[in-house]
Amino acid sequence: MSQGTFGFANTPEWQQAALEDVLVAEVVFNLPLERPYSYAIPQTLREMIRPGQRVTAPLGRSNRMVVGYCVAVKPAEPGTRNLKSIEELLDSEPLLDQQMLQLTRWIGERYLCGWGQVLDSVIPAGVRRKSGTREIQCFLLAENADEQIKTSRLSSGQKAVIDAIRRSAGPLSAPDLCAAAGCGPGPVSSLRKRGLLVPVRIRTEVEGDDGGPAAREADLHMNPQQKDALDMILRPIRNGTYETLLLHGVTGSGKTEVYIQAIREVVSYGRQAIVLVPEISLTPQTIRRFRSRFGSVAVLHSHMSDADRHWQWQRISSGEVEVIVGARSAVFAPAPHLGLIVIDEEHEPSFKQDSTPRYHAREVARRRCQDERVPLILGSATPTLESWLRAQRRLDTLVSMPQRVADRPLPPVVIVDTRSDSRMSRGSAIGRALYQGINRALSEKGQVILFLNLRGYSPVVWCRSCGTGVKCPNCDITLTWHRDRKVVVCHSCDYETPPPAACPGCQSPAVRFLGTGTQKLDEEVCGLFPQARVLRMDSDSMKKPGSHDEALDRFRRGEVDILLGTQMIAKGLDFPNVTLVGVVDADTMLRQPDMRAAERTFQLIAQVAGRTGRGQRSGRVLVQTTNPNDPAIRFAAKHDYLGFAQHELAERHDAMAPPFSCVARVIFRGPSESRTRETAIAVADRLRAARQGETAAVRVLGAAPAPVVRLRNLWRFHLQICGKTTELVRDLWQSVEKTLSLPEEVEFAIDVDPMNAR
Ligand code: ADP
Ligand code: ZN
Ligand code: ZN
Repeated sequence: MSQGTFGFANTPEWQQAALEDVLVAEVVFNLPLERPYSYAIPQTLREMIRPGQRVTAPLGRSNRMVVGYCVAVKPAEPGTRNLKSIEELLDSEPLLDQQMLQLTRWIGERYLCGWGQVLDSVIPAGVRRKSGTREIQCFLLAENADEQIKTSRLSSGQKAVIDAIRRSAGPLSAPDLCAAAGCGPGPVSSLRKRGLLVPVRIRTEVEGDDGGPAAREADLHMNPQQKDALDMILRPIRNGTYETLLLHGVTGSGKTEVYIQAIREVVSYGRQAIVLVPEISLTPQTIRRFRSRFGSVAVLHSHMSDADRHWQWQRISSGEVEVIVGARSAVFAPAPHLGLIVIDEEHEPSFKQDSTPRYHAREVARRRCQDERVPLILGSATPTLESWLRAQRRLDTLVSMPQRVADRPLPPVVIVDTRSDSRMSRGSAIGRALYQGINRALSEKGQVILFLNLRGYSPVVWCRSCGTGVKCPNCDITLTWHRDRKVVVCHSCDYETPPPAACPGCQSPAVRFLGTGTQKLDEEVCGLFPQARVLRMDSDSMKKPGSHDEALDRFRRGEVDILLGTQMIAKGLDFPNVTLVGVVDADTMLRQPDMRAAERTFQLIAQVAGRTGRGQRSGRVLVQTTNPNDPAIRFAAKHDYLGFAQHELAERHDAMAPPFSCVARVIFRGPSESRTRETAIAVADRLRAARQGETAAVRVLGAAPAPVVRLRNLWRFHLQICGKTTELVRDLWQSVEKTLSLPEEVEFAIDVDPMNAR
């Protein structure tokens, strides 16, 4: 009862009730269970229980009490007997409405996990706990106070307190009383002891911080390209229909202004819009852009306090908020009159959740928009092939914005073949062409961005005797040298240790640090350009909250000449004075053992290229690679998304890979290598044996060791189920899942439409 029980059933009255009178609650738990469980609803709770509330109920043979979600209330079916009964009702009001219940149910079916698991992840902990509200003790005047006052002598302080409480409209807390009476705590406590003041408990809400008002700005006057795009979006908004529009616009084409004016229309109907952006783009700059245009904006991001999240959730569900801007999970924002969802940078992998439920916010948004009959806008300069193919097939509507605002050109991209570069063969990360480019940009007072996707000092700790990388003892991952802290680190499990004096495999002292991470690049750049002011941005240097925004502000103000870093610097930023962008090593992305390696390489080059040539000054992009003929790199250099999409779709089609098929990946984890492998193989065999009817066309690949075969001390094996449609894959899995009995030590996770190949 510590969480604040709302109702409590102490007698199992239903046992006496006539069967047809019994109401049944369907309950789901935070477990990978397929179907809801039925429970009898005791008389005392009949009037209060509704779908969307939490209950406790006995589960399993041991009848332990477990918290679950009531998802339906209905009369018992004839012949029902021996139902267990709900024990407690935990919420006075449903935590979500019928529409969200249906949406979460769909997620469970689509991503092969339990409905209750989805609910537990979707409803923020702060909302369940009602964080930010707290009970405080306040005081009222006792009923017989007047008589007592007549017969007793009061100090002047006590009299002041009594006057203060008489003047007040309601109960006051002790500090408020003292302030109103202008006295210390003494009189309040003495009056309380004498029974003149009686305590009552009041629940108050702590107000959150909505960032305060921003200076209002007028909408921009749109160019013809933007107007055409907006017209296409306004059609379904005005017709009140669902439609997904893929807004393919190059970086700097003014997509955000189109979103804003589409939202303007939605808001004018008294409806709300949700805008999803990648977590990393949720910068004060982005937020300000929306705050300066709309009266009431709620921001949801991952590092909010529980209390803040609860407060925002309530503001949103009251309907007072016009625009909700947030990362992935904001797709669940409880907007009561949703009018539009926008997903900016639709191609970003962070829209897929990497833990159960492994949903993709784009697919959830699509479903939600269908249910609520509102449009969905997907914006990107480099759409995923999934979205592109849907537009090609006319399942979604393609809206194109091929020109940058004010006809600013896209920057020329130069591919630099570093295979025979003399500087690089001596171990430098910056080849001749890039060196000269930086020199020129600096002498012309331009700013430079250098992008490198490896953090640390040297990404590989290498033994020259055995010719292999020195790996983390817990993971199948090579350690990275962090010279600043004098440790080698595993970037998967954060294991760290002083650098080994000898190879743990062969005891040879020939351990070397190879390759260049951002720390070493920082050092090299400072050595080469001693006059330049250099700033490094990666997750090591930007640990402090706010340091990321502060660093970008410094760069924007021109206090930094060279900004170097990882992913962090590639996203949605607008720097007019950048005249050179260097991609230090395009091969790091190409080498990933991932079906999407080419797609990611193309996206990254296109995104970083979008960081230059935005202002009056034109810019250039230099891409260093040892694969100058790779199609992803060549198409990116020509800014040719269409060419790349056509080429890559043909490859995927030949391989029957997504988006031409659906893949579910099942990952098995366990402490014993052989048991884990055997389990994975046994499940794969069972799946192959079960293929019949329609699912005969579904392929089962593996079981095989996962690309990272050991992670955090657990062995990992995986298999993949590939079929033409999600339904076929799901049917095959579900036909086998029910009958699986795995050894206790081996657990599995299933990932539908996996984005992460590790
Ligand atoms: P995208 O999201 O497509 O990369 P943005 O919406 O960030 O592009 O726009 C790029 C820049 O152009 C921004 O500085 C924006 O303020 C400006 N901009 C957009 N539309 C217009 C317009 N119609 N007139 C003038 N400037 C515009
Ligand atoms: Zn590790
Ligand atoms: Zn060795």
